[in-house]
Amino acid sequence: MAEALLHCLLNGAIVATSDARISPLDRGFLFGDGVYEVVPAYNGKPFRLEAHFERLLFGLDALEIVNPYPRARWAALVHELIAANGGGDMGIYLQVARGAGKGRDFLPEPHIKPTVFGFCWRLATPKPELLRRGISAAMLEDIRWQRCDIKTVALVGPVMLKIEAKRRGADEAILVRGDRLAEGSSSAVFVVKEGRIATPPASHERLPSITRLVVGDVLDALGLLLDVREVRRDELFAADEIWIASSTREALAVALLDGKAVGRGKPGPVWRRVFDEFQKLKQREAS
Ligand code: PLP
Repeated sequence: MAEALLHCLLNGAIVATSDARISPLDRGFLFGDGVYEVVPAYNGKPFRLEAHFERLLFGLDALEIVNPYPRARWAALVHELIAANGGGDMGIYLQVARGAGKGRDFLPEPHIKPTVFGFCWRLATPKPELLRRGISAAMLEDIRWQRCDIKTVALVGPVMLKIEAKRRGADEAILVRGDRLAEGSSSAVFVVKEGRIATPPASHERLPSITRLVVGDVLDALGLLLDVREVRRDELFAADEIWIASSTREALAVALLDGKAVGRGKPGPVWRRVFDEFQKLKQREAS
């Protein structure tokens, strides 16, 4: 559980999380009309913050919401939020909703002031047991919309998918659109077969994952090639390894897919190299 720490960011000020209030007419609440980011911080330092800002600005632009702050102000606010909560390793949530209008109209009123909210939580590194055992995934049909490249707060699709995955005893849903791999319900997906690593390309069906880029850097550092190409559903069942990647989970190995062993049914050797190198890269960038 990502329990919120004591201080949050609300419209440019750091306030007590328990005192933060927004209007019930906020379009983020009524329509899911807004975008968000989740940024990991290690040792009090946000990791790949610029890439997260780029994606936030892309989403704001796509929804035609005015970016409330210049880049430097955004960065200063993130640092204030981290400092107010005592630094260390944390997950940071940043949300920009279109704001509250005078009532409820699908078409936004012009010149609404966006609502900016941010909070953070302690980020625990995955337990050794999870790293040893790997996670389990369920393959589900992607029921989300056609603009999954926008990190919008309208997340009821992934919520339903996560509930279904849990009902099937799985930690994550791996989503397919017909015969093709889309992505995880909250992660990028990689497959390995006979030493070849593949991940699907960017498209409107997938979030441009920042951790996917980090894994790309890790693979470069290891001298391993990455095939960026569509991945078929049957390749997932035939894979030697599957990994999921996201900002708060880094790269985790999937040991079971729909209850069947992936490869040998435990985290594989390529994942192990990636995981170790990921830790080194993180430490370098956080020091
Ligand atoms: N895909 C989806 C649908 C996600 O929700 C997430 C993260 O929450 C990711 C991929 C991974 O993105 P990132 O690596 O930027 O955290």
